[in-house]
Amino acid sequence: MERLQKVIAQAGIASRRKAEQLILEGKVKVNGQVVKELGIKVNPNQDDIEVEGVPVEKEEPVYFLLYKPTGVISSVKDDKGRKVVTDFLEIEQRVYPVGRLDYDTSGLLLLTNDGEFANLLMHPRHKIEKVYVAKVKGIPTRDQLKLLARGVKLEDGPTAPAKVKMLSVDRRKQTAIVKLTIHEGRNRQVRRMFETIGCEVMKLKREQFAFLDLSGMNPGDVRPLKPIEVKHLR
Ligand code: URA
Repeated sequence: MERLQKVIAQAGIASRRKAEQLILEGKVKVNGQVVKELGIKVNPNQDDIEVEGVPVEKEEPVYFLLYKPTGVISSVKDDKGRKVVTDFLEIEQRVYPVGRLDYDTSGLLLLTNDGEFANLLMHPRHKIEKVYVAKVKGIPTRDQLKLLARGVKLEDGPTAPAKVKMLSVDRRKQTAIVKLTIHEGRNRQVRRMFETIGCEVMKLKREQFAFLDLSGMNPGDVRPLKPIEVKHLR
């Protein structure tokens, strides 16, 4: 959901300021009703909006899966001019990422212009499983991995139970590769979880999001989601 004046401005009908004026003047209708309040939120993909009797074209919802490379910001623009996830798409619509992956994390990231869909997927109630593969410094013991699985205490509260699997160990280099499946999506959660057991994450990749994975894709590749995939995610 977005503010009505923002939707009007983004459709290129008027500046944000002018859109506010049009609303206050009673020249804007939402689903056939005149709206004179500025705070109201609308769904630009679903609500019928009219400005001075002219319908505002609905934006076609689009959904993409990006294999985010490392060294890319999960944002639509960066003040420092670094590469951002939307640089990988050549489309007219403004899309934004569903959640975020750290600059140094690679892997599966969804992008859409459908705010409702994005909110739904990010809502903790939805409990979408995300599978991460982490290369860590040090070799976690079985007990330490059990702690991660049971839940550890982070500054912003305990983590929910997770699935943890040791994939490989390099005794000479003292590193390990661990698969971690969580359904929460807190900031730097995986890195912080490993910190609690004294292991620094050297490399992190999100391999799966719900039933979606990266098969057949390389870093930087993008593909549209199939309608059936969008349907199953809802
Ligand atoms: N957890 C992290 O620590 N980083 C990510 O990018 C995603 C999950």
